[in-house]
Order: sequence, then C-alpha cells, then structure tokens
Amino acid sequence: GRDLEWAKNSPQLDEEHKKINAGIVRTRFPPEPNGYLHIGHAKSMNMNFSLAFSKLDVPMESRRTVFRYDDTNPEAESKEYIDSLKRDLEWLGWKPEKTTFSSDNFDFLESCAERLIKAGKAYVCFLNSVEVEAQRECCKKRIGAVSKGLDPDKEVGDAGGLYPGRYRDTGVEENLTRWNRMKKGFYKEGECTLRMKMDLTSSNPNMHDLMAYRIKYVSHPHAGPGRCVYPSYDFTHCICDSFERIDYSICTLEFETRREPYYWLLKELDMYRPKVYEMSRLNIEYTVLSKRRLLKLVEKTVRGWDDPRMPTISGLRRRGYTKECLNAFCDDVGATRNANLVEVNRLQQHARVALADKTRRCMGVLRPVKVVCKGAVKSVLKVPNYPQAPERGEHEVEFTPTFYVDERDVRAEADSNFFGYAPGNLVGIKYANIKVIVDSVGPNGVECHAVEEGKPKSYVTWVGEGGLRCEVREYGNLFTVPEPSSDWESEVNPNSEVICTDAMVDPSISELCDSKGLDKWTSNVSFQFERIGYYVVDDDTSWVHGQNKGKIVFNGIVGLKEDKAK
Ligand code: ATP
Ligand code: MG
Ligand code: MG
Repeated sequence: GRDLEWAKNSPQLDEEHKKINAGIVRTRFPPEPNGYLHIGHAKSMNMNFSLAFSKLDVPMESRRTVFRYDDTNPEAESKEYIDSLKRDLEWLGWKPEKTTFSSDNFDFLESCAERLIKAGKAYVCFLNSVEVEAQRECCKKRIGAVSKGLDPDKEVGDAGGLYPGRYRDTGVEENLTRWNRMKKGFYKEGECTLRMKMDLTSSNPNMHDLMAYRIKYVSHPHAGPGRCVYPSYDFTHCICDSFERIDYSICTLEFETRREPYYWLLKELDMYRPKVYEMSRLNIEYTVLSKRRLLKLVEKTVRGWDDPRMPTISGLRRRGYTKECLNAFCDDVGATRNANLVEVNRLQQHARVALADKTRRCMGVLRPVKVVCKGAVKSVLKVPNYPQAPERGEHEVEFTPTFYVDERDVRAEADSNFFGYAPGNLVGIKYANIKVIVDSVGPNGVECHAVEEGKPKSYVTWVGEGGLRCEVREYGNLFTVPEPSSDWESEVNPNSEVICTDAMVDPSISELCDSKGLDKWTSNVSFQFERIGYYVVDDDTSWVHGQNKGKIVFNGIVGLKEDKAK
C-alpha cells in the first residue's frame, strides 16, 4: 500500500551500494541532543530500526541502524540531553549497530572543507547575517524576474553590491589563509562564515551558497574545548551519512528541499551517496512535537521533560505508557508522506489494549466519602485479580463496617436514575456479599444498615479502613485546541493536571509494588482501579510499606473508555 511508497519513490539500491555494503542495509537515527526525545522521534526510530526494513523485505541478519548524535550546535546541547537520548532509545528496546557522534568527525569534516576550498567550491564570506538575508532575497527576486522572461539585472539589480557578493570570487590561496585564521580564532563570532559556492540562480533557495561553518566561541559538550568553528547541519549531515555508509537516509518532509544540497556536496567531494527519503512528521492532537516548544513548556508550564503530560518518551513512560504500546502506535501510524495529525484517542486506545491484560485490578477511591454500616462485621474477602479471568488468581481484601466510597457514588438526594448511595437506596457492597439500605447522607458521610432482602441495581467499589492514603494525579490534554497555533502559549490548558490529595487504595497492591525486595515502592507498576481507569506508581512515591512511611503518588494513565467530553 501507501507504506511502500517510500521504498519505490527513492531509487533502489544500485550496484555501487550493493558492492559497498555487501548485502547489509543500513539506516540511521540522528537526533540532536538539544532536548528530550518525543513521540515523533519514536515514529522515526520505529521506521529506522524496523519498519523500513520490513517494508523493503530485508532479512533480520542484514539490518543495521546507526544511532548518531547530530551534535553540531554546542550552545543548545548538553550532557543531560545526550544521556537522556540514550536512556529513552534503550528503553524503547532499539539496539543500534553502533553509537556515533557527528562531533567525532570534526577533524574529518574540516578536511572536507579544506578540499572544497581547494576545489574552488567554498569561500570565506564576511557578509553579516542581515546582508546574507538581503542577498538571498535578491536571489529570489532575480529568479522571479527570469521566470517571467525579464532581465534580472534591469529588474532587480544587485542589492547594493550584495549579489553575487564580493567574497564569492576570492582566490583559493586567500580563502585557505582566511579559513585557517577562522579556525585559529582571528575573527569575532559572526564576523565571517565559510560558505559553499553553489548556484545563486537555482530555483531552490537551499542552493544559494549555504553556510558550511560558523564561528562560535563555546566549548562542545561531547568534543570538549579547543574549537571555535562548528559545521552546519547541511555540511555535516550528508558527509556523516556517507562516511557511515548509510543506505537509506530518512528524514521528515521539511528537508525535501535539502536533498539537492545534500547530493551537491557529496558529488563535489566525490563521496559515496546514500539514498535520501522524506516522510511526513508525526503530529498529535492537543499537543506539540517541537523541541523548541517543549523546552518552553519545561521552562514555564510543566515540572520537567518527564512531566506525565509531556509527549516526550520520558513523560509518556512516567505517565504509564509501555514501550509495546508506543511501538504498536508507531506501527499503526506507519510511514507516509501525507500530512498526519493523529487523534489522541488513537494513542490512548493502544494504551488500553496494552494495559488491559497486564494490569491487576484493585479497588481505589479518588475522593473518599466515609460510609458507616450497621449490622456488618469485619471480614477478609477473596477478590479476583482479573474479574473476567478467574483462573488468574485472587487477592485478599479486608472489609470493615466503616469504609470509603467515591464522591461520585454518593448523592444527598435520591434520584430514580442514580443507584449509588442516596437516602432510601438499596446498594450492594462489591465482593462483600452485603446489601445495605441507606439511612442518611450528610456532611459526615453516609449511614446505612445491612439487609438480607432485595436485589441491588449496583455494586459499588470501596476501600476499607485499612486503605492506604495516596495522591492521585489526573491528566487531561496539555492544550485546549487540537492544533495549537502560532499563538500556542495562550492555548495551554490550565487544568491539564488535577490532583486528588486524599485518595485511597486497597493495601493489597503493596504485594506488587514491593515485590522486588526494595525498601521503597517501585515506580512504573500499573493497575486498573476497578470501574475508573489505569494508574501507575509515580517516581515521586517514597512509600516504605513495612514502615508505614513516605508518600504514595499515582498518575492516571488513561480512563477505561474514551472521554468524549472535550
Ligand atoms: P525538532 O523540531 O523537534 O527539534 P528535529 O527534526 O530537529 O525536530 P532531531 O532531533 O534532529 O529533531 O530529529 C531526529 C530525527 O527524528 C530526524 O530524522 C527527524 O526527522 C525525526 N523526527 C523529529 N521529529 C519528528 C516527528 N514529529 N515525526 C517524525 N519524525 C521526527
Ligand atoms: Mg534535526
Ligand atoms: Mg530541531
């Protein structure tokens, strides 16, 4: 189907490729360590580590994927990001052939720059950024004039001497001297750049003498100090792809117009040329997937990159999404060149499917109301771990005549459509085999008495007096609109997190949370709170069960059914 488009669209591997890689087919995943990985990256990883090969029918033993840190903007990058990228990639289960850093090739890249200068295909340019912008504008206008059959010199001119610019024709020797001075720190930041001498008359603006190197007096988070020139994305990416013998270089569609400079540079350097293919970026409703925007959220709105509301891999993990769920979602979204804005429910539905079978049920109440039941006695009940699958065992729950139910199951006045705790109602206590008639509902809670007769219309979940107090954090969408606009910061949902500080949960879950012999509860263990939804133990949990100390925090993962009220 459409998924195969990418393989067909990009030229098949030719004899040159086959010879070089001897049957191996190689892709790469090249994130920049300037933020944490998000679900868009998960789609890209799924493509580069799996989907691309399966669509091309490459046998398992011939598949290779390089994990490359594309680290050429030292001021935006950090050790924290470098570490987080590795952690998230490993957590998703991907096994790279090797891990590389573009910055490990800095010497090689500089030697390529020198070769280019010697071939007359690069020059040191002293136009400042405003002048370069004006030059590019002039190129555009001239191309427009030419396309109308007009004379660009007469119609547009040279933007006050900026077109083609007086540095373009500097001799090779002079360029080499200036380039060496650039590297040695003779010039100020922004004073000059090394530019590729491409084609100012091309209809593709990415052929208008792209910058290859700029000066930055900053140390590099991976390569360390000692450098003041750093290569651009356009200069680095294709050379690293070529150097690492990548077969398929897959990127997102906004890079389509950069294919031409990619091939131009490798041709000028007479280097091996990978096959470039672009696919659409993943977008999901009610969130943003741009590291620049995510960084702003981290600085101003959420608690960190791993906040459970964030679409980052670490945020989704903390929220209780499993790697199986994320990868199944990416498979489902597939590889396409169509713009895709995916519904949140599509991701949530994968979470429900992934969790349904793997999460033990337990009773919990988010906003407890006290119920005192006359005529009932304390007892220990056997409750199925999975009510739909009794063969999967049971756990013990202690019933106490004073217990707690959720606020939404209690009403001060009876109503013919409400079968919970309201005056006069006959209600069943789930699993306890006890029926009660409600005597009163007041500010101090519910009073009721046990009865023998009658058939309750509902059996309500509850937590006994021995219930553990916990904090439950419920999450909604991060944004109030499906497609955040350019004014996205005003569209942040102020109620994206609702905290129930006084929730209660049945203590039986502790057998799952401290089963690893740790003195503290393990985070990331998830449950289904019966009738409510899926919940996961948050990292903020400090509870030591044996000692009754610390704090229990749960994150709501997803409700049992799609929440249609938006
Ligand atoms: P951002 O705008 O978030 O910084 P980027 O493309 O600059 O995105 P990189 O870290 O350079 O981020 O991306 C690494 C790889 O992941 C690239 O190949 C990129 O195409 C891919 N990628 C990034 N975001 C998405 C997305 N939303 N959907 C699909 N692929 C993505
Ligand atoms: Mg990038
Ligand atoms: Mg980026």
